[in-house]
Amino acid sequence: MELNIGKNLSEVRSRIANAARRVARSPESIHLIAVSKTHPTEVIMAAVDAGQLIFGENRIQEAKPKIAALPARLRWHLIGHLQSNKVRLALPSFELIHGVDSLELLADIDRVAGELGLFPRILLQVNVSGEASKFGFAPAKLLNSVEEIVRFDRLQIDGLMTIPPLAPSAEFSRKYFAALRELRDRLGQQYRFQLPELSMGMSNDFEVAIEEGATMVRVGTAIFGPRASR
Ligand SMILES: *Cc1c(COP(=O)(O)O)cnc(C)c1O
Repeated sequence: MELNIGKNLSEVRSRIANAARRVARSPESIHLIAVSKTHPTEVIMAAVDAGQLIFGENRIQEAKPKIAALPARLRWHLIGHLQSNKVRLALPSFELIHGVDSLELLADIDRVAGELGLFPRILLQVNVSGEASKFGFAPAKLLNSVEEIVRFDRLQIDGLMTIPPLAPSAEFSRKYFAALRELRDRLGQQYRFQLPELSMGMSNDFEVAIEEGATMVRVGTAIFGPRASR
């Protein structure tokens, strides 16, 4: 197991570097978030021993005890949907919240951050495919909401995040990744809303995401192997 995780990690890292070089980007500009949901602390430590420090979890109740049990130098990203009633629990533990998808939730995070004396970093989740089942801002809604969003003065909004529809091949996701990048560029150019980070790409499609501009890839299965169903 430990051996595999080290080997898997180095393979993922070299695939990241190769994808970056194909589009003349620096491999250092891409952050690997190792998605450790469902995996126990021993397995996470095997990744730490192989040099990985940033981990992604999607359930606060599951993540909290793992975070408490593991070395304090690890960095944790919340990648799943955040419910309003979990904001107070989440903010102190995570350095970045990837899936913020409504003005109401932004307002809740801003208020709780004020009470806790924090300035949380956030990514706005965008539903670029328009799938009804997906969380996220509709692109038009996001464009219309910029003035409201930038008024939350506790929030550091670093970028955008998306999860494309389940697809038979990575190439199928390319148009959604490109759409997220184009939305980001438009927000910067037309609305003066600068969003450097793009969180997109998972085990099946992270190389395509990097070719389309991802600065963060969220990779679970390719590092840790398949997850047991919950
Ligand atoms: C589980 C999960 C991932 C990782 O998925 P893999 O296919 O295992 O790499 C990435 N992002 C989010 C939001 C997830 O929930």
